[in-house]
Amino acid sequence: MSRRDAAMTYVERGWHVFALSAGKSPLANCPTCRTGAHRAPAEMEACGCLTCHGFYSATTDLDRVAAMFAGHPDRLLAIRTGKVSGIAVVDVDPPEGLDTMRDLMAEGLLPETCAQRTGSGGWHLLYEHPGGYVMSGAGKIGRKIDSKADGGYIVASPSIHPRTGEPYTWRWDYPTAPLAPMHPTLVARLRPEPPAPRLATGTGFTTLTSKRLQGLVDTVLKAEDGNGNNSLYWASCKAGEMVAKGEISEQVAFAALSAAAAQLGIPERDAGRSPQHGTIGSGLRRGTR
Ligand SMILES: [Zn+2]
Ligand SMILES: [Zn+2]
Repeated sequence: MSRRDAAMTYVERGWHVFALSAGKSPLANCPTCRTGAHRAPAEMEACGCLTCHGFYSATTDLDRVAAMFAGHPDRLLAIRTGKVSGIAVVDVDPPEGLDTMRDLMAEGLLPETCAQRTGSGGWHLLYEHPGGYVMSGAGKIGRKIDSKADGGYIVASPSIHPRTGEPYTWRWDYPTAPLAPMHPTLVARLRPEPPAPRLATGTGFTTLTSKRLQGLVDTVLKAEDGNGNNSLYWASCKAGEMVAKGEISEQVAFAALSAAAAQLGIPERDAGRSPQHGTIGSGLRRGTR
């Protein structure tokens, strides 16, 4: 199947698709977007550029998809996972992950579903997204089994794996097999930790570094209407620098910033549900660089 036909089939299923480099990495942002013109997830999704912001560029608009690949025969076709596409994917890395997969199957945790053989000899098991937030991450389901759900993506057939030269292929050669619901036990493993207790502002900070963190929180809380997300991003970058210097832990920074975001009324899906997600996650990563 050509990339174009494959993309059409995916889009028909409601899956959002986008382009990766031949090496499986996201394409570089354009100079404007590189300067941070679009930082919050909603801004990145609304960005008019064709391929900026990685999986946020994923779309069901086939003209846009065609333009992403025009003149770039080496680019890989990828599917954005998570609520937006209605899928949560169990990503099995060979060889150890195959053993874990067998164990999970024996436990009845991996019902038969739409599946893709990866170019490295592993599997992508595609399940119905259960709603709410489902975390993505390495080893979250078991040894060498990753989750690709909200905030994630998978490389898709007919892409060729850059290391092995082998193609991604759908089981039974077609990606139209029905999606089974994800087993509740797996879903439970992929829910975020309950939110950290809120830090009262203006109290409880004694050390100099804690006072600096408090200063960042206060700045976020003083943000003017409509500027909350930018302010949160700025504070997250600064907090990331403190994390990089070992002054505070990532968890402490995240707890303080997410509490401030909640007080400002920034939705959790934008602010980020963990230190790896959303505006806070982007800021912390940037700050620690
Ligand atoms: Zn751009
Ligand atoms: Zn942009």
